[in-house]
Amino acid sequence: MVNKPVFMDNQSTTRVDPRVVEAMLPYFSEIYGNAGSTSHSFGWDAKEAVDTARSTIAKALNTSARAILFTSGATESNNLALHGVLQRAKSKGQHIVCARTEHKAMIDPIARLERRGNPVTWLDAAPNGSPDAGRVTVEQVADALRDDTVFVSVMLANNEIGVIQPLAEIAKICREREIVLHTDATQAVGRMHIDLEQLGVDLMSFSGHKLYGPKGVGALYVRRARHVRLESQIEGGGQERGLRSGTLNISGIVGFGAAVELAVSAIDQESDRLAKLRNQLFDGLSQSVPKMTLNGPILTDPKLRMPGNLNCCFTDVDGEALMMSMVDLAVSSGSACTSANPEPSHVLRNLGLSDDETRASLRFGLGRFNTAEEVEFAVECVTEAVQRLRKMAN
Ligand code: PMP
Repeated sequence: MVNKPVFMDNQSTTRVDPRVVEAMLPYFSEIYGNAGSTSHSFGWDAKEAVDTARSTIAKALNTSARAILFTSGATESNNLALHGVLQRAKSKGQHIVCARTEHKAMIDPIARLERRGNPVTWLDAAPNGSPDAGRVTVEQVADALRDDTVFVSVMLANNEIGVIQPLAEIAKICREREIVLHTDATQAVGRMHIDLEQLGVDLMSFSGHKLYGPKGVGALYVRRARHVRLESQIEGGGQERGLRSGTLNISGIVGFGAAVELAVSAIDQESDRLAKLRNQLFDGLSQSVPKMTLNGPILTDPKLRMPGNLNCCFTDVDGEALMMSMVDLAVSSGSACTSANPEPSHVLRNLGLSDDETRASLRFGLGRFNTAEEVEFAVECVTEAVQRLRKMAN
C-alpha cells in the first residue's frame, strides 16, 4: 500500500523526523527562555540546550563547537560567508572564484557583486555524458586563482544532479595560498561523511530542513585560522560571537542538533538503502520509458554522486506538464529550488543541455521515508504520464 501523494523531492526539503519533533517540543512552552538571559534559570536552560546542540553538531563533523555559528539557513550562511569575507579582505583584493552550477543562494549574491564591478571567475562543469558530468577540476580552480583572489566557493554536493565535487583537493591548493574556501554543503551534511579536519575547507554552509530537521535554522562553520575573518552582516545584540545578532531560535537549534545526530549516525546504511532505491527507480524507468537519458554523473560511483538523487531527461516531453499531470507524485523540474524563477535550470544548461532538454528533465529526490513500493508507484506514474503526453503531442 502506498500512501498518496508520494513525496520524492527530498532535495528541496525533508519531512521533520518524528524523533526530532519530540526533541523540540519542550522548547516551545516549557524551556522557552532567551539564551541571552543570564539572570535566571529560563535563560540558563535555553543556553544549555544551545550549547548541547552546538557540541553535537561539531562532534558529528569533527570540529570544535566554537567553529559553528547558528543562522536561519543555508541562504543566510552563504551570504554571511561571501559578504563577511569580502568586506574584511578589502586590502588584499576582491576577486571571487565560483562554479556556475552552484545553488542560486550562492550564484545570485556573487552575480550582484559582479554587476557592481567585482571581478569574478566562473568555472564551467564537465559536460553531460561524461562519467563525472557536473564536476569542476582542481586544475580549473588552480588556473582561476589570482593574487587578488579572496573567496572561492564550490559546493560539496549539487542539489539538482547530486554531483560531489573534489573539495579536499581544492582545499589543499587554496590553503597553500591562504585563500578562503567556502563550500555549500547543504545537500551533503547528514547524507555523506564529513570530517572538517580532513576536508580542509574554511567555511561551510548547511541547513536543518534538508536533513529531517526544521526549516529556518542552519549554520555556518568558520575555521579558526588567522586568514579566515568575517565581518558581521546583521548587527544587534551581539549573539554568536558578534557575527550574527538576533535571539537564538532555541527549538529550531535543538531540532537541528537532534537531526544532525540522527542523520550522521545512519549515513552508511541509509546511503546503501537510498542507492538501491535510486537504482530501482532508474532501472524501472529505463525499461519502461523509451528515449530517457540520465543527467549528471554516473550512478555507479558513490564518490561522484549522492545516492538519493536521480535526474532524467524525457525527450519530447515538457517537464512542467509532466509534473503537473502526476498529482500523486511530488518531484521537481531541474529548476525546482528556484521555482520563483521559471527559467530553465542553469545547472543543466551549464552541462550542455539545450533549453528543450532542460525543460524535459525531472529531478527525483529519494529520502528517509521513501520505500520500494513508492519507487514502483513512481515508475508507473511517470511511464503512464510520459506515454500520454507524447501521444498528445503527435
Ligand atoms: N544551498 C543548497 C545547495 C540548497 O539545496 C538549498 C535549499 N534549496 C539552499 C542552499 C538554501 O537553503 P535554505 O533553504 O536553508 O536557505
